[in-house]
Amino acid sequence: MQDDFFTKPHCSVSVSPSPTVLGCPGCSEEVEVWSDEDAAVCPSCGREVRKP
Ligand SMILES: [Zn+2]
Repeated sequence: MQDDFFTKPHCSVSVSPSPTVLGCPGCSEEVEVWSDEDAAVCPSCGREVRKP
């Protein structure tokens, strides 16, 4: 059965993180917070931006 090779994932990489864009509460800059992080630092004003 050749089909199995194509339907099953053949690498063991776990779910890759993806960014969520949040507005900085300090300066309204768009800040990317990655799915494996709870917060990020705004590159514009240095304020911590947390997920809601
Ligand atoms: Zn900011």
